[in-house]
This record gives sequence, structure tokens and C-alpha cells, in this order.
Amino acid sequence: MRIDILTLFPDMFAPLHQSMIGRAEKSGIVNIHEEDIRLHTKDKHFKCDDVPYGGGAGMVMLPQPIVDCVRSVDPEGKARRIFMSPRGRTLDPYIAKELAQEERLLFLCGHYEGVDQRALDICGFEELSIGDYVLTGGELAAMVAIDVLLRFVPGVLGCAGSTEEESFSHGLLEYPQYTRPAVFEGREVPEVLLSGHHANIARWRREQSEMLTAARRPDLKK
Ligand code: SAH
Repeated sequence: MRIDILTLFPDMFAPLHQSMIGRAEKSGIVNIHEEDIRLHTKDKHFKCDDVPYGGGAGMVMLPQPIVDCVRSVDPEGKARRIFMSPRGRTLDPYIAKELAQEERLLFLCGHYEGVDQRALDICGFEELSIGDYVLTGGELAAMVAIDVLLRFVPGVLGCAGSTEEESFSHGLLEYPQYTRPAVFEGREVPEVLLSGHHANIARWRREQSEMLTAARRPDLKK
């Protein structure tokens, strides 16, 4: 999979290349590239935003650098183009799985008040939100979306079963997890987990998941 991220702040993406995603890049499963929109401006002062027509607070990102940046990164229109935006569909595991099937994704990160609508229309962007709140920019949102979707790309997680067994995968929150030591500061790991009895362990985990979900997120199980 190839992912291009169009941003005014490419340095913000350092954390994305760490840990499991960094390993997936090294092993060639995914190729993630940040493109600096500012390099595509035709303005001699590298200006990429201006005041909004109609007035109002803040600045709006100019269409020209964005459209030229998209055309330079994806000249043949092969990538699914996603603008991170509070107006978009809200990211969930279903959307993440769907995006994980794509060969190429292109993310546009807005900043300031947002982006000139014509850039979005010309390039055919769909919009994706990470939740009902407003960030200062789309960079963190793009990182969240990319992290979530890459977990569904085979080979990114060490253990293939990991996305099957975790929170939200069956409309349930995950059961409590324990590792060594068996006793820590006087607190014991639930005995059933030490029993080696797989059916009992599975039942205990299911019960714990159902209790937690009922207590914290009754909306998940309808
Ligand atoms: N004026 C805009 C918000 C601009 S915030 C509005 O009211 O909708 C600046 C940028 O941050 C946005 O262009 C978008 O790219 C990003 N952003 C902010 N909140 C976001 C969210 N919840 N999900 C995804 N991107 C978001």
C-alpha cells in the first residue's frame, strides 16, 4: 500500500514512522510519504493561505498549491483522496477496514480555518472526521486514521488474530489483560487464566467483555 500525506507541516509526522508502522514500512508492506504543500505554491513568498471571502475569523488554505500538489503526487488519479475534516464521515472500524483494502490513499490535512472548497471539488476529495471536536489541523487526525487502518493491513500487526479479539470487533469492549508476574503488589491474576483450560478462559473473557460493555458502552450492543 502507498500512502501520500499532503500537509503544510511534514515534520509533525515523525511519530507515525515509529514502532509497528515503522516496521511495516521497513518490510515494504506500506510506503508512507509526506508532501509539503508549500513546495507547490507559485507565490514568491511561499504563501499558502489567505483571508476568507465573505469575512470571518482565520485564514483559508489557497486552492492552487493544493491542486498542484495533488496533481504532482498522484498525476493519474490512482489514489483514493481523503480530506481530514470535522464535516466528514466519522472514522470507525468499518471505514478503517474498507480503506485498508485500497492500493493507494492520499490524505489532505487542512490547517487554520480550512481549505478553499474548489480544491476539494476539483480533486474529488471525500471527507473523513475522527470525532465530533475540532483540532487545530488535520495532521493528528490523518495520523489517527492511518494508524487505525494500517492495523487491518495484513502483516502490520505481529499477530494476525489481534484485530479479531479486541475492542469493537464484535460490538464488545475488550476483557482485562494480564501478564507476568502472577502476583503483583499482592494482586493475583484471575485464576482461570492460569488454568490452561481454553474453554473456561474464553467464557471468562466473554463474560468480562459483556460486563464492561454493559457498564461503559451499552450503546455498542443493540
Ligand atoms: N473551520 C473548520 C475547522 C477547521 S480546523 C470547521 O468548522 O469545520 C482545521 C483543520 O483541522 C481542518 O481543515 C481539518 O483538516 C482538521 N480537523 C479539525 N478537526 C478535525 C476532526 N475532528 N477530524 C478530522 N480533521 C479535523
